[in-house]
Amino acid sequence: MTAITHHISDAMLAAYAAGNLPTPFALVVASHVSLCAECRAALEAHQAVGGVMLEDSRSVRVSDTLRSGVLDMLDDPYSPEPVYERTGIYPGPIMQALKGKAPRWKSLGMGVRQSILSDGDEGSVRLLFIPPGQAVPEHSHSGLELTLVLQGSFSDETGYFGVGDVEIGDEALEHTPIAGAGDPCICLAATDAPLRFNAMIPRLLQPFFRI
Ligand code: ZN
Ligand code: ZN
Repeated sequence: MTAITHHISDAMLAAYAAGNLPTPFALVVASHVSLCAECRAALEAHQAVGGVMLEDSRSVRVSDTLRSGVLDMLDDPYSPEPVYERTGIYPGPIMQALKGKAPRWKSLGMGVRQSILSDGDEGSVRLLFIPPGQAVPEHSHSGLELTLVLQGSFSDETGYFGVGDVEIGDEALEHTPIAGAGDPCICLAATDAPLRFNAMIPRLLQPFFRI
């Protein structure tokens, strides 16, 4: 793996440590942290701060049982969590979301495939498979989009993203990601609002594919 150059922002790591990220984004953060020593250290710092704040509250009289119960809960304050094991290209948190099975790919046309891991009120998260050199139609975003590269690479107007890199897109980003040469690009993409495609055809297909 080449060095990771695009990381999770510190504010997002803090929100994740506090359990305040919607599950689709939490899965991307957990997966990136599982691959990235730098963000893992930053996350552990945030978690240590959270732990100290709780330890300080011991002057408040609570029974030991209650206290250890709360501490136990805090050991597992959010899900998904980082898992430092990989199965092929998939970090542990993705394997957990897949329940250990291979992704069930559905074609989106032009060789592009997706496998939806979850889709609900708080957003959606999916695996995307993009053949080498293939473009994802130009689109902008109504909300936040987090994309983590798991295999291959893609480039867009903002730069190059290789394995482990995360692109953070918001309303200001309008882009046409193109998969690099070599292996097909497989990435994990989370959104909290539908993407806005600029061409007519993808817009017509959008409700159908739940992009
Ligand atoms: Zn990182
Ligand atoms: Zn996008």
